[in-house]
Amino acid sequence: MLVGLPKEIKDNEYRVGLTPGAVKMLVARGHRVLVETGAGEGSFIPDQEYRSVGAQIVEHAHDAWAAQLVVKVKEPLSAEYPYLRKDMLLFTYLHLASNEPLTKALLTSGVTAIAYETVQTHSGQLPLLMPMSEVAGRMSTQVGAAILQRPQGGRGVLMGGVPGVAPADVTILGGGTVGANAARIAIGMGAQVTILDVSHHRLAYFDDLYNGRIQTRKSNPSTIEEAVCQADLVIGAVLIPGGKAPWLVTRPMLSSMRKGTVIVDVAVDQGGCVETTKPTTHSQPTYEIDGIVHYCVANMPGAVPRTSTFALVNQTTDYVLLLADQGVDALVNNPELQSGLNIYRGQVAHPGVATAFGLAY
Ligand code: NAD
Repeated sequence: MLVGLPKEIKDNEYRVGLTPGAVKMLVARGHRVLVETGAGEGSFIPDQEYRSVGAQIVEHAHDAWAAQLVVKVKEPLSAEYPYLRKDMLLFTYLHLASNEPLTKALLTSGVTAIAYETVQTHSGQLPLLMPMSEVAGRMSTQVGAAILQRPQGGRGVLMGGVPGVAPADVTILGGGTVGANAARIAIGMGAQVTILDVSHHRLAYFDDLYNGRIQTRKSNPSTIEEAVCQADLVIGAVLIPGGKAPWLVTRPMLSSMRKGTVIVDVAVDQGGCVETTKPTTHSQPTYEIDGIVHYCVANMPGAVPRTSTFALVNQTTDYVLLLADQGVDALVNNPELQSGLNIYRGQVAHPGVATAFGLAY
């Protein structure tokens, strides 16, 4: 099959949909890969690395988009709509339920579009969202540690303390993928860590894994208030599948917290789990309310594109190989890929997208 890898054009998007390693696997199976020149630049992957594993470098976006299977990271932007065609398989993040113009463009073009974010395993996991949660979780502690420094507005507390002086108190709200990865880095830095979750199963997991090195608390309004009021760094990492994040830290709680406490609300992309959360950007990441520093960047993995590209492509490659080998039949043969199908030849093929726009499914 002819596989296309266009360069991402979204503002500040530096990831790329295939690494040279993934291209090498495609070429070894007899597929041809067209890479738009500069596609890997944002992740510091030069054209030459793709060329050396058998890709053909093409000058223009339309050449890469001319392929039968197009692999990307972000959803097509309006400048890319003219490239969509009915004999094309498109594999990328789409988030259609919140993007009516794109949904219409995909339907009109007749393309078959598979969304990373709805690919689901039989146990209910979302394997193509998980790598970004891993990145954001690990990054949240790193970012929080930096903002805790006094010149950044924080309490001036060193994560690991020093002999004779207590380490930072890190409270993590939600012990899923983000929370577990945030905890791992915080423990590594020598901080004192408390995780709150509503799931006893998750709390038992942390208790077993860290053998008492992490404190666990059942999440409820009292335990949350107690924990955040003694924290130096609060990491918001809750998720209600398909829903808006609950406000676990309320506005009145801020005035009981210690001045210079840092909140990193990773759940900002679902509305945030702190009442005073509002989305920020990498260029202006923080703001302060009642002496509490908030960091609420909605695309945290975008700051570490090289790690994020490899983390994402590690997870997408098996599915890309299936699509390249089998074409649309891969959707019939693989239930995980089938759950990723959002648009099939001009028809809505996912209940979430149909419900969002009142369309037939
Ligand atoms: P997850 O499903 O793996 O974990 C969520 C956890 O929250 C679960 O363990 C759940 O039991 C727990 N939870 C639910 N309600 C709770 C409550 N009231 N109190 C305490 N815990 C509660 O989800 P995840 O992959 O870890 O993602 C967490 C959040 O991070 C999501 O909102 C996700 O969209 C977001 N995220 C943001 C970025 C970013 O760049 N900002 C990147 C990746 C993920």
